Amino acid sequence: MKAFEKNIRKVEPYVPGEQPQRKVIKLNTNENPYPPAPGVSKALQGMDVDRFRLYPDPTAGDLVHTLAEYYGVDDSQVFVGVGSDDVLAMCFLTFFNSDKPILFPDITYSFYKVWAELYRIPYECPAVDESFHIVKEDYYKENGGIIFPNPNAPTSIYENLDFIEDILKHNQDVIVIVDEAYIDFAGKSAIELIDKYDNLIVVQTFSKARSMAGMRIGYAISNPTLIKYLNDAKYSFNSYTMNMTSLVCGVEAVKDKAYFEETVEKIKDTREWTKKELTKLGFTYPDSQSNFIFATHEKYAAQDLFEALREADIYVRFLGGERIKNYLRISIGTMEEMEQLIAFLTEYMKKHE
Ligand SMILES: *Cc1c(COP(=O)(O)O)cnc(C)c1O
Repeated sequence: MKAFEKNIRKVEPYVPGEQPQRKVIKLNTNENPYPPAPGVSKALQGMDVDRFRLYPDPTAGDLVHTLAEYYGVDDSQVFVGVGSDDVLAMCFLTFFNSDKPILFPDITYSFYKVWAELYRIPYECPAVDESFHIVKEDYYKENGGIIFPNPNAPTSIYENLDFIEDILKHNQDVIVIVDEAYIDFAGKSAIELIDKYDNLIVVQTFSKARSMAGMRIGYAISNPTLIKYLNDAKYSFNSYTMNMTSLVCGVEAVKDKAYFEETVEKIKDTREWTKKELTKLGFTYPDSQSNFIFATHEKYAAQDLFEALREADIYVRFLGGERIKNYLRISIGTMEEMEQLIAFLTEYMKKHE
């Protein structure tokens, strides 16, 4: 081993879902099957390419303002970044600096562990219960901060705002981050609690419900004090994070509320149809309030199903890991895609009785 090796920051990186570059039925990374709002395409066509010579607006002012109006908060309460992964990483860097461990569930978004390791933040992972629900009492002990998604991923379970408030009430001395990547498919957002709890940060993304994973846009909503701390950290690091194209497209996506609501409703309808069909085939799953279903089958190993589906160009996610090794995470696609998934599974089970 070279002497310099001992001073290298070594990390075990996050493993993203596969992105095959040919056309498959892609139900493995919780993307939206519908295109972004029509205004996005128009705005792109109208873009003045000459402006690419210039740096983009470091404050992302237009996008921040559009989001602030949409959520009925002040511009000073919105922080934007390159996907919510960027926003979350910046939150870890800024707010999780205690010697006490931060807390997040054992079954959750696997990036949390990666950032904690990267930044050398101590962490503990209280186990979700048998039915994959977060046990809120586990978060009442001393800690250096709390983060969890709501709905949780990959379990798909949504907890209501009373649950969130219980956690907040027991944790007034640390920052609590609620990662709402899937909130638009579920119930009420914790954004309505930000005036009541000055330690709450809510993070959302354009990648799921807004059909723009490729544009990389995420944001945090909180009080002006915490947003300022985030901006200070960001400007100490890289001030031009958001590119011009994403800024323009982001604004257009937020403006078209009707289109947004229509596609979210379609996905929720397709989700409910898929749940019923999966039940008929003998699958069980937590009651999803997300754009994916976390399903298991008593008779068929998840990994076998994953591989057979993949052979047939139907990509779902098999995450592995001790407690969830017999589960598949299946994103909700179009109705036609879900019909093909169900048709394949029906045939497969006939052949492998
Ligand atoms: C998808 C996802 C994100 C990250 O999304 P971005 O594409 O980086 O905005 C964050 N948290 C959870 C729980 C997710 O599932």
